[in-house]
Amino acid sequence: HAKADGRNAVCAYTAGMSQLASRSFRIESRLQRALQEGALRLVYQPQVDVSNERIVGAEALLRWTDDGQAVPPAEFIPVAEETDLILQIGEWVLREACRQAAGWQCSGHAPLSVAVNLSARQFRDPNLVELIGSILRESGLPPECLELEITESTLMSRLDDTCQRLQALSAMGVRMAVDDFGTGYSSLSYLKRFPVSRLKVDQSFMRDLCTDAEDAAIVDAVVALARALGLDALAEGVETAEQLEALRDTGCRYCQGYYFSRPLPAEAFARLVAVDDGERVAVLRKGLAA
Ligand code: C2E
Ligand code: MG
Ligand code: MG
Ligand code: MG
Repeated sequence: HAKADGRNAVCAYTAGMSQLASRSFRIESRLQRALQEGALRLVYQPQVDVSNERIVGAEALLRWTDDGQAVPPAEFIPVAEETDLILQIGEWVLREACRQAAGWQCSGHAPLSVAVNLSARQFRDPNLVELIGSILRESGLPPECLELEITESTLMSRLDDTCQRLQALSAMGVRMAVDDFGTGYSSLSYLKRFPVSRLKVDQSFMRDLCTDAEDAAIVDAVVALARALGLDALAEGVETAEQLEALRDTGCRYCQGYYFSRPLPAEAFARLVAVDDGERVAVLRKGLAA
């Protein structure tokens, strides 16, 4: 019996594996085509200063509609990351985000930054620094308006290489943020040494911030850690007024989340910042409601 079960288990396992493999192959080839045909786009989620609720920038998030069907990044990014396709996609994202962000800048308000997510493979790409240099030049976006987000696990692997890359990028004036902070394993001594400027508090801590004392303690601790290391903290996933109030109590300087805005198409985000003239200290939500 055991033998037969074992064999069945192996068969089921192999069938499952090849189903997965053909699924990622399918995603990969359609994604490749989407990139060539210009079927990818970026949406922008406003990032807000907690103290005055003004927009300080946006995170660029990739969207793919395949045959009328939105495919979530959580599904296709990991597939792209298995191959060099992520490098081509990532280059397109960087170029598009910098081009669009250059268009947001105007004399009426403080410079707006754009945050771009980098996959591990992209971060390790030997051509990254040169690529970013040329994209900044061609777009005219000031380097300090570009922020690159990498996850804790990317940050904390291959530490010597990471250090060199971060130094090269920060020497260009580009800023670095640690995404989904609190979900991985960060060595605090490296965090101290690395030229990163922002910790993004993972949205999983935000969900029960008002009711779960442990989540509140974690957010407090991350915000305090950021302050002690001279970094700023940005909380992700703020969905309610209550969460915003609780966040304010922690002293967290920046946030983003559905409470202020879902990620917006490029034109909608550009309109939003165009009406923010710096005089009317635009409460983002009022601006959207109006
Ligand atoms: P992330 O970088 O942590 O992005 C935040 C995710 O949370 C986004 O999901 C965003 O739409 C979502 N979000 C924002 N506010 C709220 C909120 O208030 N509540 C909830 N529940 N969710 C909120 P999205 O766009 O589906 O992206 C998922 C992940 O895919 C991103 O997580 C990032 O890791 C990856 N990703 C997205 N775009 C890119 C890209 O251009 N390049 C790379 N390498 N990865 C990307
Ligand atoms: Mg991110
Ligand atoms: Mg995140
Ligand atoms: Mg995330």
